[in-house]
Amino acid sequence: MKALQYRAIGAAPEVVTVPDPEPGPGQVVLKVTAAGVCHSDIGMMGRPAEGFPYPLPLTLGHEGVGTVAALGAGVTGLAEGDPVAVYGPWGCGGCAKCAEGKENYCLRAAALGIRPPGLGRPGSMAEYLLIDSARHLVPIDGLDPVATVPLTDAGLTPYHAIKRSLPKLVPGSTAVVIGAGGLGHVAIQLLRAMTPARVVALDVSEDKLRLAREVGAHAAFPSDERAAAAVRELTGGLGAEVVFDFVGVKPTVRTAAAVVAVEGDIALVGLGGAAVAVGFGRLPFEVSVTAPYWGSRSELTEVLALARCGAVSVHTETFTLDEAPVAYERLHQGRIKGRAVVLPHG
Ligand code: NAD
Ligand code: ZN
Ligand code: ZN
Repeated sequence: MKALQYRAIGAAPEVVTVPDPEPGPGQVVLKVTAAGVCHSDIGMMGRPAEGFPYPLPLTLGHEGVGTVAALGAGVTGLAEGDPVAVYGPWGCGGCAKCAEGKENYCLRAAALGIRPPGLGRPGSMAEYLLIDSARHLVPIDGLDPVATVPLTDAGLTPYHAIKRSLPKLVPGSTAVVIGAGGLGHVAIQLLRAMTPARVVALDVSEDKLRLAREVGAHAAFPSDERAAAAVRELTGGLGAEVVFDFVGVKPTVRTAAAVVAVEGDIALVGLGGAAVAVGFGRLPFEVSVTAPYWGSRSELTEVLALARCGAVSVHTETFTLDEAPVAYERLHQGRIKGRAVVLPHG
């Protein structure tokens, strides 16, 4: 089968031919319908050889939707042809976090070498994808695969970050979304569907600010040194109860710290590597700063339920598997509106 692989440090990913996966006992093989292109892959491919976390070559893609193509021995509850979404952050399935469905925070995954598809294991940018356990699959019944595949990460990650801050997003509150890209443009819609908060988007691109307004942001400002003042002015000087930073570089975390309100939350979701200093005098009183990772299995089910109500409409640009390297290039250049989605059989 064809697969998009990152093969050598610093090189562009390329489409190659690899053996078709065969399901072992308990495993499932999916025929991949759609695979989402996440900026985290670009961050990963930008890392130096020293300390590179995964073996190469690596088939990319940690957002996947497909149909069941083959079932390993002992798999029940699924039938060939069933359309499913892949819950990506695999855990051991048995520890206290996994028992709660929080496989993203599995206590034993690192020790056992369990990795998500596309982030250490062969991923979804291929014609077929091997799934370790049927519990990683969520039926998508009726949902469009292309619009749904980004929800497995670009939807689930902001959903999780928003859900933990819901008590602060009361009527009259303000939420700031920094970076209206794949994750950010879904975050804006989730905030509008799940909270009465006023939503303010910040981005460096005029196109993304337009997209932010289109998908429901009440206000959208350029992400520059004047952004914090604009948010302060809009909130009568009080600032924003919750700030979601989907970039995480020095200028954006500086803005996040400058706009957050007393007792507010800052969620650093972007992997830009910058940190927020916490301490007396550094931030308004009792601000919480977190760096959340992906989301739980039950949260994925909830995101799909929201999509089923029509609350989220993901903007997508589609590419064939042969065009997938171009999708990464364009994402790197900031030229994808919403999420790029690769169709391995398209
Ligand atoms: P994306 O490229 O689709 O979106 C990024 C957006 O940020 C773009 O619209 C871009 O114009 C904007 N941007 C760039 N610099 C900016 C700045 N200085 N101020 C404001 N906006 C700026 O990327 P994505 O796939 O949505 O991923 C966003 C980030 O989230 C990445 O860092 C990714 O690695 C990370 N991520 C984290 C998790 C997690 O679990 N924590 C999960 C998925 C992705
Ligand atoms: Zn991702
Ligand atoms: Zn576990």
